[in-house]
Amino acid sequence: DQLNPVNSWFDQFVGAVMYVLMEVRSETDYVLHHAQKVLGIFAAMRALSAQLQASGHRVHYITIDDADNQHDIPANLELVAQRCGATQVQCQAPDEWRLDALLHAWRDQTTLQVTSVSSEHFLTDRLDVQQQFVGKKSWLMETFYRAMRIKHGVMLEDGKKPLGGKWNFDASNRQNWHGPNTKHADPAEPEDVRPIHNHAKLWSSIQSAGVKTFGNAQAAAFRWPVNRDEALAQLGHFVQHVLPNFGRYQDAMHTDTWRLFHALISFGLNVKMLSPLEVIRRAEQALQEGVASFEAVEGFIRQILGWREYVRGVYWANMPGYDERNALDNHKNLPQWFWTGHTKMRCMQHAIGQSLEHAYAHHIQRLMVIGNFALLAGVSPQQVHQWYLGVYIDAFEWVELPNTVGMSQYADGGLLATKPYVSSAAYIDRMSNYCKGCHYNKSEKVGDKACPFNALYWDFFARHRDRLGNNFRLGMVYKNLDRMTPEQQAAIAQQAHMVVGNLDNL
Ligand code: FAD
Ligand code: SF4
Repeated sequence: DQLNPVNSWFDQFVGAVMYVLMEVRSETDYVLHHAQKVLGIFAAMRALSAQLQASGHRVHYITIDDADNQHDIPANLELVAQRCGATQVQCQAPDEWRLDALLHAWRDQTTLQVTSVSSEHFLTDRLDVQQQFVGKKSWLMETFYRAMRIKHGVMLEDGKKPLGGKWNFDASNRQNWHGPNTKHADPAEPEDVRPIHNHAKLWSSIQSAGVKTFGNAQAAAFRWPVNRDEALAQLGHFVQHVLPNFGRYQDAMHTDTWRLFHALISFGLNVKMLSPLEVIRRAEQALQEGVASFEAVEGFIRQILGWREYVRGVYWANMPGYDERNALDNHKNLPQWFWTGHTKMRCMQHAIGQSLEHAYAHHIQRLMVIGNFALLAGVSPQQVHQWYLGVYIDAFEWVELPNTVGMSQYADGGLLATKPYVSSAAYIDRMSNYCKGCHYNKSEKVGDKACPFNALYWDFFARHRDRLGNNFRLGMVYKNLDRMTPEQQAAIAQQAHMVVGNLDNL
């Protein structure tokens, strides 16, 4: 995922060093990955290799089907170094703890001299967030985000006041989308301008090498960018034509579409073809040119300057061990239909279905549909984490893990989220058209046709009263729970028990 062709590292050694890129089973197999994720990363690695060679660099590229491939990063590096007589190895510092630990362990026992350089990508150092929140029980993103706005001079007036008079326009960003030509006259979804690649040959070598994947391979009509030019073109289109509606419809969901007004840039960003600062500056420019509003631009910038850097900081401050957190003691297995999308729950069918089809779901689908259900049903956060890490095109542990284990599953006990992100059918119905035409009834709590989210939601708060009952953000929830009669509460507990006993058949 270190595929930034404009890293200054590459300017220094034209022709003097050999760059090694490798496709290895240790990286394809640490979790079961979506086919498009493996294809996308390998295709982007091959594109970078070609670009480096074209600009005069020596490159040694180890393909997945190379007979000499040891399928292990240190073992391949030892072999290449031995063959070409190298005594030193330099790498870009990895962003995942797993790889960082592996390289450190190797450095301590190899005779090669191993050093690392920066990927020149992030706006913060690994431990900046930890230093900002030292000694605090809850790490508020908003505090970090404001400090980042000031530090990087983003959307500011007089160097320290927020442009537009407010730091946060979240409240204006919660509209549903009903589709064009409806009485709401919502705008049409923008055109999908992503490139089309045919990766059939690469796919066949991935399969011949025995790599196991899931999801739609789409090898002949692959739509993710594989080089910086393509990623920049996609960003340009987003800023000009999509960003104006980004904020307003950021949380909306609809069965007719899987993208709405989202940027689809997380793959380009996470493999570092795009830099976060250039994305932020392009959005600011759209504001200055009057292309997009404060609400849209602030909402978008907050995701990148705020959430993205913040979750990375949470990750480095809490690894190793953050992946094992399970504050609510959840141990159920992931329902089988997470791998097929075959469920009668229309919201899960659509959100999981598009994840398998496109290796993509937007934030609210990940958080308030799929993650919401897993948490309410008491699924093991480790299984949920493995699924998220595998399924999405943009999933790398430094960003996926805090979003899943922390924000979505509350498994860190509230370090990252001040309350669990859960809801009953009411929220899903407000933000989507999922409930219309669903097998289940969004308004019922008990009975064969009752929406499973409803009983699970109330039962969740009843079961976790000891831990959550005093949370000031949940006062209203507990008030409503306490208004129910003991009979109603018992019926809900019984319904929830039935639902979790029947997860595979919902
Ligand atoms: P947009 O909605 O258009 O947002 C623009 C950009 O903002 C994104 O590209 C991303 O870089 C950044 N961003 C937005 N929200 C977040 C966030 N919460 N954390 C970090 N960056 C954010 N994002 C990943 O990049 N990789 C993951 O593996 C990942 N796993 C997630 C798991 C769960 C359970 C949840 C709730 C969220 C996860 N996210 C992850 C965050 C977010 O859902 C994706 O970044 C976003 O959906 C990517 O699509 P987009 O580029 O169209 O984003
Ligand atoms: Fe999902 Fe329940 Fe709505 Fe069906 S009724 S779509 S299960 S929230």
